[in-house]
Amino acid sequence: MLDKVVIANRGEIALRILRACRELGIRTVAIHSEVDRELKHVLLADETVCIGPAASFQSYLNIPAVISVAEITDAIAIHPGYGFLAENADFAERVEQSGFVFIGPRAETIRLMGDKVSAIKAMKSSGVPCVPGSGGPLGEDNEENLAIAREIGYPVMIKAAGGGGGRGMRVVHSEAHLLTAISLTRTEAGAAFGNEMVYMEKYLENPRHVEFQVLADTYGQAIHLGERDCSMQRRHQKVIEEAPAPGITDEQRQRMGEICAEACRKIGYRGAGTFEFLYQDGEFYFIEMNTRVQVEHPVTEMITGIDIVKEQFRIAAGEKLSYRQEDIEIRGHAIECRVNAEDPRNFMPSPGTVAMYHAPGGPGIRVDSHLYTGYTVPPHYDSLIGKIIAHGETRESAIARMQTALTELVIEGIKSNAPLHQDILRNAHFRAGGTNIHYLERMLGL
Ligand code: ADP
Repeated sequence: MLDKVVIANRGEIALRILRACRELGIRTVAIHSEVDRELKHVLLADETVCIGPAASFQSYLNIPAVISVAEITDAIAIHPGYGFLAENADFAERVEQSGFVFIGPRAETIRLMGDKVSAIKAMKSSGVPCVPGSGGPLGEDNEENLAIAREIGYPVMIKAAGGGGGRGMRVVHSEAHLLTAISLTRTEAGAAFGNEMVYMEKYLENPRHVEFQVLADTYGQAIHLGERDCSMQRRHQKVIEEAPAPGITDEQRQRMGEICAEACRKIGYRGAGTFEFLYQDGEFYFIEMNTRVQVEHPVTEMITGIDIVKEQFRIAAGEKLSYRQEDIEIRGHAIECRVNAEDPRNFMPSPGTVAMYHAPGGPGIRVDSHLYTGYTVPPHYDSLIGKIIAHGETRESAIARMQTALTELVIEGIKSNAPLHQDILRNAHFRAGGTNIHYLERMLGL
């Protein structure tokens, strides 16, 4: 097993990674910015190194600084978590060139999947169903672009090949607006992602977001751990996730899961990953692959009993997958509520000192959070302060457990979106299951 690992992240995921290391007997090095000395995992790590000021680009995104921490502490590997450098192919490449293990796929896989046009091409040729679209980058020929849109049928979506985080996308409802939309998206993509390449897809009007979790080792074996439904979104950001996805049959799960596992074998995928699909009228359409652990991984862990982060370490250490597909059994239902330090009505961030924190508990409840009484949430980073995960034999019992947990949760001194979660859990459409990606914004009157 890897002897010592640098945790190149912060907040709840850094703590999650530290806990996995402890169980596996791996020593930990926590990197942190100047304002993050009091983070829970920093207080618990075997070694800590301050790598720069609060601004992410001077600390958590500073590639030479992160790699030099591995050098000075004699660590073997670097776990990037999610966000920050997790999907930066140059980082993965430099980690490996410097002689360390990158806990994630090979740099070339990250690069392939980071460009959505090349990702879609690779997926199509591996047999993964994709959204009908241009199949490649749009050129400068206006007539040709108009013809592509006519062929796909309006509405269409213009998307940036280098886009991410829900940015770099534009819906076009009629031919009159197509050409302006293409040039606007191109200019914005150039400014935001340093890559003007755009492509076109059919705009699906009422899809759900359903994604499949995969694990692949370095010996060409790959399995899937079923799917998650992440349709409860605001501004393309997930708010509640659950597994399994309501209404997806076991036949659909096995068929789509195997398509994803087979795609992993074909592209030589390594580690944990997620295939994201839009699901509408009984059909799945691939939109992108995430080459890292996801925020919502716990719901899959709860229903499969598999520790995804520990598997990431085992795969990185060169071990074979310890499970075969036949060993994977889905038990019950799990729901995750993302708890953010924000105003539940206007979504304004609410950093500050936590005057009092009390975590819920009881049967089927898991809390992944770095909060503690007296901790100060800095204003510089993402507002996620924790995740509550509820598991039950049925979806109804998972919801009931989550509702109970939310009534026990106490966070004083800063605002949280817990009241919003209470509202969603009471909502009749959510309770019925299977709401689409626009539902939450409509419910909020946005
Ligand atoms: P990002 O990398 O920015 O997250 P994605 O390609 O994953 O971009 O898309 C983010 C969200 O945008 C999806 O979850 C969905 O809500 C919406 N979206 C993307 N493509 C389409 C499409 N073809 N039709 C309808 N909605 C889409």
